Amino acid sequence: MTISGLKAEGIQWNLSELYTGPDDPRIEADLAAARRQAAAFAQVYRGKIASGQLDGPALARALAEYEALSELEYRPSFYASLFFAADTQNQKAQQLIQRTREASTETANRLVFFALELIALEAAQLAPLLVAPEMAEYHHYLEVLRRFKPHTLGEKEEQILNQKHLTSASAFEQLYEELSGSLRFKLTVDGEERELSDGEIIALLHHPDRDLRERALTTFLETHANHSLVLTSIFNNILLDHKIDCELRHYDDVVIPTHLANEIAPETVEAMMQAVERHYPLAQEYFQLKARLLGLEKLKNTDLYAPIEAEVEEIPFPQAQQVILSAFGRFNEQFAALAADFFNRRWIDAEVRAGKRGGAFCAAFSPRHHPYILCSYNGTSRDISTVAHELGHGIHYSLSRCQKLLNYDAPLVLAETASVFAEIVLTRHLLAETKSLAARRALLCGLLEEMYGTVFRQTALTRFEMEAHQKRKDGKLGADEICRLWLQEQEKLFKASVEMIPAYKWGWTYISHFIHSRFYCYSYSFGELLTLALFQRYLDEGETFVPGYMRLLERGGSQRPEHALAQLGIDINQPEFWDQGFRVIEGFLADLKAVVDTA
Ligand SMILES: [Zn+2]
Repeated sequence: MTISGLKAEGIQWNLSELYTGPDDPRIEADLAAARRQAAAFAQVYRGKIASGQLDGPALARALAEYEALSELEYRPSFYASLFFAADTQNQKAQQLIQRTREASTETANRLVFFALELIALEAAQLAPLLVAPEMAEYHHYLEVLRRFKPHTLGEKEEQILNQKHLTSASAFEQLYEELSGSLRFKLTVDGEERELSDGEIIALLHHPDRDLRERALTTFLETHANHSLVLTSIFNNILLDHKIDCELRHYDDVVIPTHLANEIAPETVEAMMQAVERHYPLAQEYFQLKARLLGLEKLKNTDLYAPIEAEVEEIPFPQAQQVILSAFGRFNEQFAALAADFFNRRWIDAEVRAGKRGGAFCAAFSPRHHPYILCSYNGTSRDISTVAHELGHGIHYSLSRCQKLLNYDAPLVLAETASVFAEIVLTRHLLAETKSLAARRALLCGLLEEMYGTVFRQTALTRFEMEAHQKRKDGKLGADEICRLWLQEQEKLFKASVEMIPAYKWGWTYISHFIHSRFYCYSYSFGELLTLALFQRYLDEGETFVPGYMRLLERGGSQRPEHALAQLGIDINQPEFWDQGFRVIEGFLADLKAVVDTA
């Protein structure tokens, strides 16, 4: 018997408020209007900004026009990307993506001069313009836009670096992609020799068979190790290329460009990472509990994601909707009401369909239009969490619709402030409602494993990456040296609680962030721990915390993270602030201990 709603049948979004379909003539009309207006905009403003011909109010008018134009330009490609995500095999969708992307690039190119001139302005020229009251809402945007100015070289040098980038870092990134993409993994599964893709073999880490999990990760890593000559060379060159870049651009340290991009002071990141490292014993405590749940003496690192319960109760979508809304309602009425809009007004596409994009996302293109959510709902408790997570993003976007377009998107480290919060609100609600010990164990393990993977593991990854960049300054690193650095950071995290399988020394070879998005991993730890600390404040302060929290979400991307949080009375430069986040983890750990002990 199939229960209706287990695959969220019929839960499709309604995109007609954007366009009626891929053939809607308004798409072409908008693309053409954007092109035309961009040309007119360039005619009026090109050369006027850098040369200081505009006063404050005139510059504010130019920025407002620029926002209106950007919105017009985003709308067709935003629609195309949603239409495509919902139906990737649809030829019209593919063509529409292509068409809107080309048109949008053309329009964007005509507008590039504007940002460049704003960056080119000297600080002394800009200061008097900022005094105009009309400019007040653009201060932060200009600060963000101009933050790399002191590290930008002359036009000629930038051009040369850009061109040479193709055969330096870009070339190694490309080689890494092609090599990892070409790897196939031979593994015997159920007595049958199979050739697996990376996604398939990594998924086996969640398999109930312990031996299979260990063979899967060993095969995965040893296959990478067979290419250690190339992978070591790629990693070394990526490190060296960045070192040279930092020297040319006068950065005191190799991590500074990432901190600048994240609008976070280096000391703040260091304080956060040290707080995580001080709390590594919490992760170790979890691993010991999990070993007991699995009936093992000690975990191997291939057991970290092993399933603990065989039975899973499936929940139809309408019930998930109801559970989420009552969980959110328990936290705050407005939170629940904003989430309800997504269900009632068809802003969510949750149905499982062939050809739909995998994963889940919440997307928005302008504060003048509501956001949309896409996911594939399969009825598991993981899926309910995903819906709650994306609704958190949706609520965040909805609240920041009071901002201007240029202040709409929250900075990276604040981007998960509502989504992770929403997940915890949901889990606490479910724990309060669920009597079954098995279900409570599964809920708690799911949550704690997510926190381990985001807070603890990502910090250990970042430490390794920082170490590797430092060591590379003294010369080329051999594969052995990189493996040693990797194991050293992993050992700090696991201590005696986890036995690492021998092949794990090659763990660094498959983390593509190290190649593509340097030092990105810490922003996962930062964002999650920040949200946990906010949640602890809520537990401590109750109702009085909520209005300030909602205002933080309303601020979107209008302020530096540090300033936005200061208005909640939070100082992220105080190490004690970060400790609050761990109290949430300690609380869930204590809950888990209680259910393990009664098992
Ligand atoms: Zn998210």
